[in-house]
Amino acid sequence: MDKKEILKELPTPCYVIDEQALIRNLEILKSVEERTGCHILLAQKAFSSYCTYPLISRYLSGTTSSGLFEARLAHEEMGDKEIHVFSPAYKDEDFDELLKICDHIVFNSFSQWKHFRSRIPDGCKTEFGLRINPEYSEIETDIYNPCFTNSRLGITLSNFEENELEGISGLHFHTMCEQGADTLERTIKVVEEKFGKYLYNMKWLNFGGGHHISKPGYDTDKLVSIVNRIKEKYGVQVYIEPGEAVAIDAGFLVTTVLDITKNGMELAIVDTSAACHMPDVLEMPYRPFIIDSAQSGVLPFTYRLGGPTCLAGDIIGDYSFEDQLKIGDKLIFTDMAMYSIVKNNTFNGMPLPSIYLLHTDGSTELIKEFGYNDFKRRL
Ligand SMILES: *Cc1c(COP(=O)(O)O)cnc(C)c1O
Repeated sequence: MDKKEILKELPTPCYVIDEQALIRNLEILKSVEERTGCHILLAQKAFSSYCTYPLISRYLSGTTSSGLFEARLAHEEMGDKEIHVFSPAYKDEDFDELLKICDHIVFNSFSQWKHFRSRIPDGCKTEFGLRINPEYSEIETDIYNPCFTNSRLGITLSNFEENELEGISGLHFHTMCEQGADTLERTIKVVEEKFGKYLYNMKWLNFGGGHHISKPGYDTDKLVSIVNRIKEKYGVQVYIEPGEAVAIDAGFLVTTVLDITKNGMELAIVDTSAACHMPDVLEMPYRPFIIDSAQSGVLPFTYRLGGPTCLAGDIIGDYSFEDQLKIGDKLIFTDMAMYSIVKNNTFNGMPLPSIYLLHTDGSTELIKEFGYNDFKRRL
């Protein structure tokens, strides 16, 4: 049976994580580890579906976290692998637990580092790093640009306190978003110009995320040569912590057409919502792809798809189809594993989509199902 037919059998709305696609991405990432000796970590903020952690742990060195909860999830579900954490600020009450479970803790400022360093016990195995802001990025959308004016993320060179580095074993930068190795090459150049003199005394450098490594056309050879050059020049271990590159194109969101109406054009209401189930469609913004569809006006029948919420702007996009849509038709959105499942919400009392895993043999496994209580419990 073909994948599309399998997906259309499932009750909607549901996310379906595609194991085969995940493996394809993981194999590419593993090959980078093998060619460079760098360590690649899953950035859990993009994708935390821990039913796949046993699979991911067969390919990657570990995970990175945005705070205690993600670090705990990694500890519970991928505990034999490395656990790193970066947060713009840690809370006093979280720090002891982070120390217990994290291999690397990265601080966002010298004040956080100075605040917490007295709490590090003797013989502590955790390593500590600082996030730097090289003030260079090539990201157009400010909300995704850690180097935009007055950014709170990372320490700029003018705020770098070179006399406070005792106990610090690495530096971390994260300045990219869905970008290629050419962007990394230009970024690394600035990082070296500004912070290179400190790197000689470090054990590691973390390149952050935003590397589109498993996207077709990515220049893996260039990445490999940059990593190897940095390792050699400064004698550092290199870490890369992609989220997107792990889970890109590794999931679907299946929805059913609930109604078809008209107002200047054909409108279709589906049982999934941009605002609740794929918020990046509104935030990024972007137009997700639907299998067997085309841009508006290309195929004979065009519809504007919207969610069943009261938000006027809960519009997924305009799509054309070969055939007229009917109530009950199933539509399949692609690339819905990353930054979708982790971001969903129950605004408007919208039900959360269930989560399925599509195994490599074509069988589907129900991982999670949600109901009214999941909505009520958070209010
Ligand atoms: C978001 C983020 C990542 C992952 O970014 P992707 O674009 O998903 O690869 C890695 N590190 C940090 C610090 C981040 O904030």
